[in-house]
Amino acid sequence: MHMRRAFYIGRFQPFHIGHYSTICTIAKEVDELVIGIGSAQKSHDPENPFTAGERVMMIRHALEDADVKHYAIPIEDLQRNAVWVSHIISMSPPFSVVYSNNPLVIQLFREANVNVRQPPMFNRKGYSGTEVRKKMLEGDEWRQLVPTAVADVIDEIGGVTRLRNVSMRDME
Ligand code: ATP
Ligand code: MG
Repeated sequence: MHMRRAFYIGRFQPFHIGHYSTICTIAKEVDELVIGIGSAQKSHDPENPFTAGERVMMIRHALEDADVKHYAIPIEDLQRNAVWVSHIISMSPPFSVVYSNNPLVIQLFREANVNVRQPPMFNRKGYSGTEVRKKMLEGDEWRQLVPTAVADVIDEIGGVTRLRNVSMRDME
């Protein structure tokens, strides 16, 4: 049987309900989904607190009961946009369509003649990685912005304490 396999990329710092909702929408249109974990080499900094492996865990647990089989593939930054699509293709199971709303991602895949679809946005202001990290730092309630399974992973790895520590300046 021919599989319709799609590709979706994000940094997932952390994986939140906007990502989850997007994936549930994509799941209705394809059989399998490759989830590229961008900036995979980054962790332990204020914009990128979680390692690639921790992000794999978040995605695996969050999509446990979802209606799509997924492959989470860590993708390191290349700092060379012109060859970024071949870098992705070299690391990923084969796919025939890309879902993205990021203008650079869309441009690069279209230039490579890859079919791109734009998924709907889900409360982009409320559900964003930046917003989740901000709430964690300020001691606000962040759990409602991520799937329960993701909150459990973040608790298990001490994610909030880590984010606070890597966001602090030198102690006098
Ligand atoms: P950050 O604020 O850290 O950049 P982010 O919320 O933008 O986090 P990313 O991991 O950078 O998340 O994004 C992956 C993709 O997910 C982005 O291209 C973005 O378009 C999409 N996305 C982010 N938030 C939502 C949302 N609420 N609904 C639908 N798509 C979203
Ligand atoms: Mg973003």
